[in-house]
Amino acid sequence: MTQGGAHPSPSGALAPPEGFPLLAHEAAGEGGLVYLDSAATTQKPACVLEAVDAFYRTNNANPHRGAHRLGGAATEALEAARRDVARFVGADADEVAFTSGTTCALNQLAYGLAGLLRPGDEVAVSLLEHHSNLVPWLTVAKLAGAKVRYLVPDRQGRVPDGEIDRAVGSRTRIVAVSHVSNVLGCVQPVERIVRAAHDAGAFVVLDCAQSVAHLPVDLHALGADFAAFSGHKMYGPMGTGALYARRGAASALGPLLRGGGMVEAVFEQGFTFKGFPAVLEAGTPNAAGAVGMAAAARFLEALDMEAVHAHGEALARRMAAGLAAMPSARLYGPGPDGAEERCGIVAFNVRGVGADLAARALDRRNVAVRAGAHCAQPLVRHLGAEAVCRASTGVYTSERDVDRSLGAVEAARQDAANLMTSAML
Ligand code: PLP
Repeated sequence: MTQGGAHPSPSGALAPPEGFPLLAHEAAGEGGLVYLDSAATTQKPACVLEAVDAFYRTNNANPHRGAHRLGGAATEALEAARRDVARFVGADADEVAFTSGTTCALNQLAYGLAGLLRPGDEVAVSLLEHHSNLVPWLTVAKLAGAKVRYLVPDRQGRVPDGEIDRAVGSRTRIVAVSHVSNVLGCVQPVERIVRAAHDAGAFVVLDCAQSVAHLPVDLHALGADFAAFSGHKMYGPMGTGALYARRGAASALGPLLRGGGMVEAVFEQGFTFKGFPAVLEAGTPNAAGAVGMAAAARFLEALDMEAVHAHGEALARRMAAGLAAMPSARLYGPGPDGAEERCGIVAFNVRGVGADLAARALDRRNVAVRAGAHCAQPLVRHLGAEAVCRASTGVYTSERDVDRSLGAVEAARQDAANLMTSAML
């Protein structure tokens, strides 16, 4: 089996792009694809693809169902995956339920905790939230007659202490915040938020969709009650993810999905549930996906998450410095020299050019960035924009990739100027 591993490539990537079959196919690096859309989904290393393939070739059966040998092998593969994923985020295996992704986990959390909300209660979220950590809370708050309050970030995209004190108080029941903004890449002061929420007697839900791929995440140390993250953003397969529930908090969480596998006993007029995590895993699990997600966790552990963080942060600062020096570019969020902790995500616009047009101009130069509101419309509106371009790095991204994308931004501006001149002629 191909191993993931810390073998920096000559180009300066943390993991050689050749170890990612899609990037190898696209001949990433030498004039080939520069993939800067890792915050949407990362490319997959060979070890992840091989782990999924091996599950179907050698272990495929329905886990926790069959008494036969293969059923046992599938169960063992799923439970070993749970142990690996839990270790990766500083949790114990019995605190992790597999889900189809962050969105699924956050909906399970919102509906599962909705019973705690009474009229007049409050759910505190930040203005930076992805719609997946906002729409479910808006929905359950409305059903309960509760209110959603916002923690407003500063210009660098970080929620200041004063905002936490203002928005979290005696009416707060739940605080749901992202660990890392998917638009600005800034790291939120979650320890401080957890302290304030617990002082107020509220539960804390962390959206770790971006942080797990970029930072060492230790959920026990952070003290969060619940957390959600996606496998596909941390080099694992699509359709995978996890919901973490702290051992003392899991019993507050009711199930959203009901059916096979999550019940202890069923009678004509009732049923009893299993405990966490089984209670949240109704139906046949995506066991092959879980195995792939575990392979991704081991791949990242082998790279060392401190090194992954340092790599992404250095690339983001290089990108931000390049953009800040370009009169035609507008940078959002942390500047190149700020002291704040950040990840490999940078938001920008090309002045006078719509974000979508700019992204298309970059695409013509084989640089893939995303343009739009990034499922964070309240934040992008707060930034005074309708849409922004976002460059997001991965472990396969090199300084050369960043420099090529900066050249493409300059060229996008030139394209727009040429278009305007020819329209005037
Ligand atoms: N939360 C954040 C911060 C995200 O970046 C994303 C995806 O971009 C999500 C939630 C939703 O993740 P998924 O689409 O994997 O469910």
